[in-house]
Amino acid sequence: MVDSIKHNDSLHWMMQMLQTIEVGLVVLNRQGQVQLWNSFMENHSGVRVSTARERNLFELFPELPRDWMERKINAVFKLKSRAYSTWEQRPHLFRFQSARPLTSQAPLMFQNLTLTPLLGSDGEVSHVCMLIYDVTDIAINKLGLESANDALETLSQTDRLSGLFNRGHWEECLVDEFHRLTRYRGTGSLILFDIDHFKPVNDNYGHHVGDQVIKDIGSIIGGSLRDTDKAGRYGGEEFAILLPETDAPAALLLAERLRKQIESHTFKVEGIAINVTVSLGIAEFEARFSNHVQWIEAADKALYSSKHCGRNRTSLSSKT
Ligand code: GH3
Ligand code: MG
Ligand code: MG
Repeated sequence: MVDSIKHNDSLHWMMQMLQTIEVGLVVLNRQGQVQLWNSFMENHSGVRVSTARERNLFELFPELPRDWMERKINAVFKLKSRAYSTWEQRPHLFRFQSARPLTSQAPLMFQNLTLTPLLGSDGEVSHVCMLIYDVTDIAINKLGLESANDALETLSQTDRLSGLFNRGHWEECLVDEFHRLTRYRGTGSLILFDIDHFKPVNDNYGHHVGDQVIKDIGSIIGGSLRDTDKAGRYGGEEFAILLPETDAPAALLLAERLRKQIESHTFKVEGIAINVTVSLGIAEFEARFSNHVQWIEAADKALYSSKHCGRNRTSLSSKT
């Protein structure tokens, strides 16, 4: 008698704990009808237990990914084993408001889901229990960290002055492209260019004025490229552009457009109007290059030839 009172008590306590636990608990029968709905579900969904009972879960919550979820639930019935889904796969299964709407970082609650088989007295799975965990804090921390890491990565690849890639990252892109072309063939071109007579700009107006010109040229380059092109600041007043899938004639068109754009642009710094020109060299990828440095050297040679022939022009590397 004493034992049975104890047993009834503990069952009663268990029910109270399940009702108040900070985890969503839902029991579904084979037809997907709600058999148990705890207060976590009531509080977050606004659907009372009296409304939810015996209703089909997917009719109550049309936003649930029904096909995917039914497949998972059926597998639990069939295989008698648990199934899971994480917030990284499906961030918001139930579109519940997060408990921190004011931060606006996460207006919706991030959830993990576990599906557990519940066995009847015959040992067969008669129901499935859904456990819905609020993992908003974990998700916000992880996402915050990821966006901070992304920002750091971008920063470590970017040249502060021009806003283009820095030399280190640009060269990594070139090495990747070089290996890709060596392995699979195809075309790709490289443009190197250098501002003409830039020393007098610094000497006459000061280094900070020269810096502003470099910065503005960075914007001009950035604004005239395709998404797949990679532009970097190669040295002080030298720039490099990697053009995947581009042969020399197409690279020449782009180079000339850029050259004319810079020639016709008047840079205005602190009320001073400055005009500069650039000299460019182009090298298309060639199978004879045994490393990426040789590709750069070919473009540099073409650039030198532009300088030598009077500046403000584009030269193509001569294939050998
Ligand atoms: P050219 O290339 O036409 O032969 O003449 P140049 O005067 O541009 O070439 P040179 O290589 O003799 O000098 C490059 C100058 O660029 C030296 C320096 O005054 C300037 N320069 C290089 N890096 C920077 C930089 O980061 N900021 C500024 N303001 N000037 C720079
Ligand atoms: Mg130079
Ligand atoms: Mg120069």
